[in-house]
Amino acid sequence: MPTREVRWERMFPDELEAAFQQCPLAYLPYGLCEPHGPQNTLGMDALRAHAASCLAAAAHGGIVAPPFYWHIHEHGGYGTWAHRRVGDARPWLTAIPSWMFFKNMFYHIRAVDALGFHGAILFSGHSGPHHADVPKFLDMLQSHVDVRLFCIIGAGAPESRFPDDKGMGGHAGRGETSLLWATDADCVDLSRMPASDAPGPHFAMGDEVETSSRRAGEQMVADLVQLMGAKSKQLLEDYAKSQPKRAPLTFERVEAIWEAEIRPQLKTFASMQSGTESPPEDSRWYANWHVPDRG
Ligand SMILES: [Zn+2]
Repeated sequence: MPTREVRWERMFPDELEAAFQQCPLAYLPYGLCEPHGPQNTLGMDALRAHAASCLAAAAHGGIVAPPFYWHIHEHGGYGTWAHRRVGDARPWLTAIPSWMFFKNMFYHIRAVDALGFHGAILFSGHSGPHHADVPKFLDMLQSHVDVRLFCIIGAGAPESRFPDDKGMGGHAGRGETSLLWATDADCVDLSRMPASDAPGPHFAMGDEVETSSRRAGEQMVADLVQLMGAKSKQLLEDYAKSQPKRAPLTFERVEAIWEAEIRPQLKTFASMQSGTESPPEDSRWYANWHVPDRG
């Protein structure tokens, strides 16, 4: 953790206000607790999004909001994935449906806008179909708020730093494992990996985990911190060039915008598609697989 406190929930009011005066930029980290292989703690996605945000705030200014540990899972493609990669026996997810996640995110943005932040970097360590939805959703909200918005989804590292070309290894593969090893070393334990001939699924473990590298993880985190620094500078410049309305949204206004503009579009969101591959009816992932029409 950085020496200067940047975590909102751990700052005294004078520290919070001094940090805000210096740089009115908020980091909003997202993830959930879900299976990430036996070698990683379950909070992987929000842990590394939060830690990378803290490093970026320490280096470039800004305040890191409390991480939000509830995220989209179980329905549509997420349920199909859980059937294949998690199985029925160990279903440890802090899941909420897509529409609930996006409404939460809207209220988080409303709060930082109402407080007068000039920029916000939303970092969802969790990936999946919502990868395509978050930028689109932020575009829909941008005209209603002064705070300038940018998002990072998934690993977030601009590119792999492994010396071979075997990629990142997908969900809970060597890329994610290395990133978490770099940000939260006590949350990675390669001695917990299954024997190579043990029957799976292995708690959704990804590929190439045995070649995980803390050093590659550190390089990718450094790349990410640099990217976040550049984006935060750009957001603050964009705000300075804009003509802020300074009319913060009320809760009532948020609900009205949701009903009029967001809800009718939900059916077009990638995270709101059931897809064609249903889990079998006797799977625990079947019940929520079909995504209801919330439009
Ligand atoms: Zn993950």
